[in-house]
Amino acid sequence: MTKLDGNVLAGRLADVLGWDATAADVRCAACGAHGAIAVAVVYMTAMGTVARCPHCDSVLATFVESDTGRSWFGMPGISALEVTP
Ligand SMILES: [Zn+2]
Repeated sequence: MTKLDGNVLAGRLADVLGWDATAADVRCAACGAHGAIAVAVVYMTAMGTVARCPHCDSVLATFVESDTGRSWFGMPGISALEVTP
């Protein structure tokens, strides 16, 4: 499994949110740490993509895409996401 940084999520976040959120500040629901999504630890596999907190390793966000074209985006570990115009 390859360990990447959150910059690899730029395209997927833009698809879901409508803007490049890699520079947006997010707060980890587990440890309270915050920082840009770009510094999250990202693992990409054939089953999906998981972004983890670089401080406590909790799951911040998940992306799952089926072979039928359906997609799911979850933010189980993000308690706040900075939204900028
Ligand atoms: Zn954390």
